[in-house]
Amino acid sequence: MTRARVRVVLAGAGHAHLKVLQRAGELRAAGVELILVAPATFHYSGLASAVLSGALPAERAGLDVAALAARFAVPHIPAEVTGVDRAARRLRLSDGQDLGYDAVSFNVGSITQVPGKLGDDGAAWPVKPLARLLALRGEVEAHIGGQGKSPGIVVAGGGPTGFEVAAALASLSERNGVRPDLRLVHRSGPDWAPPRVLARLISALASRGVALTEGEVSGRGPGTCVLSDGRALPCDLLVLATGLRAPPVIAALGLPLSTDGRLEVDPTLRTAADPAIFAVGDCAVITGAPRPPAGVFGVGAAPTLAHNLAALGTGARLATYAPQARWLAILDLGDGTGLAMRGRLWSLGRGALILKRRLDLGFIDGLRATSGEMLED
Ligand SMILES: Cc1cc2nc3c(=O)[nH]c(=O)nc-3n(C[C@H](O)[C@H](O)[C@H](O)COP(=O)(O)OP(=O)(O)OC[C@H]3O[C@@H](n4cnc5c(N)ncnc54)[C@H](O)[C@@H]3O)c2cc1C
Repeated sequence: MTRARVRVVLAGAGHAHLKVLQRAGELRAAGVELILVAPATFHYSGLASAVLSGALPAERAGLDVAALAARFAVPHIPAEVTGVDRAARRLRLSDGQDLGYDAVSFNVGSITQVPGKLGDDGAAWPVKPLARLLALRGEVEAHIGGQGKSPGIVVAGGGPTGFEVAAALASLSERNGVRPDLRLVHRSGPDWAPPRVLARLISALASRGVALTEGEVSGRGPGTCVLSDGRALPCDLLVLATGLRAPPVIAALGLPLSTDGRLEVDPTLRTAADPAIFAVGDCAVITGAPRPPAGVFGVGAAPTLAHNLAALGTGARLATYAPQARWLAILDLGDGTGLAMRGRLWSLGRGALILKRRLDLGFIDGLRATSGEMLED
């Protein structure tokens, strides 16, 4: 008697799923058939700032998901999962399809946490989804082309992403021959790096035309953005680097979430309440081992996820994943330098950016080589 095959839907082509796809043959041999539901292009965040600043062309940060899935003979549906009927084990997709599953794994990343009504009129530029952030480059270049000067840009958010995006935008103006007109608005702190590092970073940005203002952006007026204390700042473009949260489909699952809206999974990467639901990367949090959003945790979780999805076919014991306690994060400061941090260690300078480029281009080019995707020169 042949054993029934297990159908596993991979929702999203995040870092972990890109690795799991490459093990599709192994999973097939274990009796597991993968189906990928994900937009056709994966935008790689490690290179997003380099594209925004104009240091790299947009194609360098994009990956052809369909080509990778085809290379490993995994059916790919170029759509998003918009809803889940857990009782019937069916997914609703953005193209109107309805897809049954035995198990589903979510690696759908994160979206920007937009404060109040700031995103309502579509006039703000959230840093995620990345496709929109990358479109911001064209908007800034069009303004400079038309008016011969930088637009007045306000970046809301004083975390590492706010600093990196402000630095990239400063660099974009510099590349286009104009002085940046940029203000980074931070609520308090910033305190995500040692004070000595932040002081050097702030002074380097100030010398490039990036000012810092303490406050909270709460609204827009014509050509301005308004802070919660009533102050108005000149603003042509408002960029929101105001934190990340899981996409709405995660809350729609009706399963326990962390306080920041991520799906609670146990160290086997499965939810305790529904054994058919797995999740990894930014959209999930491992109970007892919360980590900030970073691609490294999706990559690190991939071998465990692949093993556990195969175990659905073989009945093997599930493995557990313990995310690392210290990890390397490198910001691209847009001026040929980077800031590398790992635990309490840090390094600011050209060497940090060289290392970042080597790692990030290595990651995405490795995936491209696997799928046989060619970029035009
Ligand atoms: C400007 C910026 C720079 C960053 N730089 C870095 C960096 O250098 N290094 C780093 O580690 N982190 C960086 N981050 C954080 C990084 O973006 C995330 O932590 C990382 O991408 C999370 O990886 P993931 O695998 O969880 O999901 P992602 O890489 O975000 O992938 C999720 C995928 O799922 C797709 N998707 C979304 N919703 C659905 C749905 N409903 N159905 C199907 N598919 C869906 C998306 O299109 C996307 O392709 C940066 C973030 C920003 C905003």
